[in-house]
Amino acid sequence: MNTDAFTAHESNVRRYGRSFPAVFTKARGATIWDEAGNPYIDFLVGSGALNYGHNNPDIIAPAIEYLVGENILLSLDMYTAAKRDFIEAFVESILKPRGFSYKIQFSGPTGTSANEAAMALARKYTGRSNVMAFTNAFHGMSLGSLAVSGAESTRELGGVARHDVIRVPYDSYPNQTFDSANYIDCVLGDPGSGIEKPAAIILETIQAEGGLNTASAAWLTEIQRICRTHGVLLIVDDIQAGAGRTGDFFSFEFAKLKPDIVCLSKSLSGSGSPFSIVLIRPEIDIWKPGEHSGTFRGNNLAFVTARAMCKMWSDRQFTADVERTTVNLQRHLDRLVAKFPKFIEQKRGRGLMAGLKCRSQAGVGRVHDVAFENGLLIESSGPNRDVIKVLPPITITNDELDHGIAILDSALQEQADDD
Ligand SMILES: *Cc1c(COP(=O)(O)O)cnc(C)c1O
Repeated sequence: MNTDAFTAHESNVRRYGRSFPAVFTKARGATIWDEAGNPYIDFLVGSGALNYGHNNPDIIAPAIEYLVGENILLSLDMYTAAKRDFIEAFVESILKPRGFSYKIQFSGPTGTSANEAAMALARKYTGRSNVMAFTNAFHGMSLGSLAVSGAESTRELGGVARHDVIRVPYDSYPNQTFDSANYIDCVLGDPGSGIEKPAAIILETIQAEGGLNTASAAWLTEIQRICRTHGVLLIVDDIQAGAGRTGDFFSFEFAKLKPDIVCLSKSLSGSGSPFSIVLIRPEIDIWKPGEHSGTFRGNNLAFVTARAMCKMWSDRQFTADVERTTVNLQRHLDRLVAKFPKFIEQKRGRGLMAGLKCRSQAGVGRVHDVAFENGLLIESSGPNRDVIKVLPPITITNDELDHGIAILDSALQEQADDD
């Protein structure tokens, strides 16, 4: 295995290359192969950016056709046919069936650019500077998104001050008995609280990087009510939990939320191609033409693949398959929790955005290494990196899912035997 180019020339900042020491070449569905031809089941899926698997033929075929046709690839925010086709498919297959009528802002291509745009708009709309954000939140690596992220390591990054954020406890933080929604309601309504009214509350319905902490429908509904009562905008960062990850297209459908602003990225293109949008309740869309911009807002190849992805959600067979996979995954995880009670503390997450909270960080590191040796890519998350993140493609076949879980099971078994 030749990794000289990386070790000699790539910055020390590289991370996944260290934790998965192989050189990858090919991928299809939930399987990825290294240069030596070894297959791995992929439960990492580009940290949630490959929900539809690698090279999904339904998504890649139109992209290939588009590429050979001398079509537009980059267009800033000019009108192109590919962009029109995407908008129409997104409205028809995603927004309309769910009763949504959002305006679509095409932001820069990364998730953090969508969050920055969302917070800038909320601040402009309300004339307020603060944003309320949660413990263990993760919103991206640019300054505004870092400010609202929870982890010490990310907040301190860059060495400049982070202003205009009010940190509040997420659902069930610090424990089940504390009612954080009630606390937020109180401080926003009490002129003596010392807490200024924010422009927005930004939240993830499941905190992926924060350790797969899951907000309940009741808590989310209450936060939405509080936002409306106090005239604060609700921004849902659905960058990782959205685009199908929980089994629904949006992660907040189960709670019947209607957020003011929704940010999507990661799996939005369906192909791994960078693409982000901000969904805006029409009354809030007070941008002046050109007021917010970005060079790569017109990645037409992403429009083509994203359109194919959207159409899949109008296919009953597809949604039924995703539902079945969700049930299978949850059943597998329940079995693992019951089998390894000394090592696994609890199941976390929801739908296909699942995790196993373990009792030992070092143990999770060893499970990761053994799993990799046996052909499974899997990641950990949480402030103590003691949560195994189980993110198969939502289109994974039963055989691939069973195989990936079997590898995880035997890595956990090895760990249990050592304890
Ligand atoms: C990945 C992620 C981001 C940041 O997206 P980038 O494309 O890395 O900028 C923001 N929020 C959440 C919830 C994420 O998972």
